[in-house]
Amino acid sequence: MERKSFQLGDVVEMKKPHPCGTNAWKVIRMGMDIRMKCTGCGHSVLLPRSKFEKRMKKVLASTDPPQS
Ligand SMILES: [Zn+2]
Repeated sequence: MERKSFQLGDVVEMKKPHPCGTNAWKVIRMGMDIRMKCTGCGHSVLLPRSKFEKRMKKVLASTDPPQS
């Protein structure tokens, strides 16, 4: 089972693309709510975490820090 994990700075793909045609969102704030920014037009959206997780399809680019 794949776990949806994401972190600040990740670029994610949502189930529905933004009306501007872009489907790549950068996570710019995390907490109870997630703020993400459309990488196409710069529009930002605030979503409750649960809603975000439901709408998110996958992580396109992760900023996973090299830790061991
Ligand atoms: Zn957009």
